[in-house]
Amino acid sequence: MYKPPNPLEVPRFAGIRTFWRLPYLKEIPRGVDFAVVGIPFDTGASYRVGARYGPEAIRSQSLILRSHNPVLGISPFEYCSGIDYGDLPVVPGYIEDSYKRIEEGLSTIVGEGVIPIALGGDHSITLAELRAIARRHDPVALVQFDSHTDTDPNYYGHKYNHGTPFIRATEEGLLLVDRSIQVGIRGSTYSKDEIDKTRRLGFEVITAEEIYRLGIKEVARRIQGRVGDAKVFVTFDIDFVDPAYAPGTGTPEVGGPSSREALELVREGLKGLNFVGFDLVEVYPQYDPGFITALLAANIVFEFISLIGLNKMQLMRMVSR
Ligand code: MN
Ligand code: MN
Repeated sequence: MYKPPNPLEVPRFAGIRTFWRLPYLKEIPRGVDFAVVGIPFDTGASYRVGARYGPEAIRSQSLILRSHNPVLGISPFEYCSGIDYGDLPVVPGYIEDSYKRIEEGLSTIVGEGVIPIALGGDHSITLAELRAIARRHDPVALVQFDSHTDTDPNYYGHKYNHGTPFIRATEEGLLLVDRSIQVGIRGSTYSKDEIDKTRRLGFEVITAEEIYRLGIKEVARRIQGRVGDAKVFVTFDIDFVDPAYAPGTGTPEVGGPSSREALELVREGLKGLNFVGFDLVEVYPQYDPGFITALLAANIVFEFISLIGLNKMQLMRMVSR
């Protein structure tokens, strides 16, 4: 089993900083369930820059994580095994070249039957991840936590940007759009019909205002109902959370959910889904006083890993029955 060292034997602040102090391995051993991988690319950003330092910041803040998740009632490493695969070799300034390298790097993980958990990087990276995912799994459902739809047709006359990954993903046939959902959309938009256009692409969209009207529990039910038993990729843009809780991001939008609401939505909305990959993007440490955004990001990834552990526990119980 690949897991973090016991925090009561080795102090959490000691050692080299991988995610959750997982073993750093560039070869994927047999029996591993998930691999955390950094994608330190930020050339796709349209406003602030600096997400290239996101993976390092999230890894640093992840040291505080202990082994048990009391809310979900799971110690994930009793049931699953994971590594930190390090970072993929992106090319700053060259998005299409970086896309090729991200797709190749992620394909290596996905090809082993391992669930990738990517740490961004700006949101442009998700298109390359989805290319690798669809290569192995065919089109998959998408659950997108974000304050933006990221379905703009182009930026400055160019196709690839952190505001375009999901229109490109639909054009490339990487998604089961009728099983896909975006949650948290808010803020000013470039055009009058931005959200309607995303709905016309086929996505279910739940805006931040609708989250408050419906309540977290109902939104969680809608995510579950939309995805059903489809294979699903979960993409979490940290700007989903209100900038009062997550200021260290590229395009902050006020009036969003709190960190507690985000954790509840992740736990309840995603519990039991058939995961093929995750990412956590848009952490910009230079705008992050007290490291609170990176700390939240690390804890959301902790929930992802707990959910992988829960699925594995259910599977092992079914097999042993
Ligand atoms: Mn985004
Ligand atoms: Mn966003």
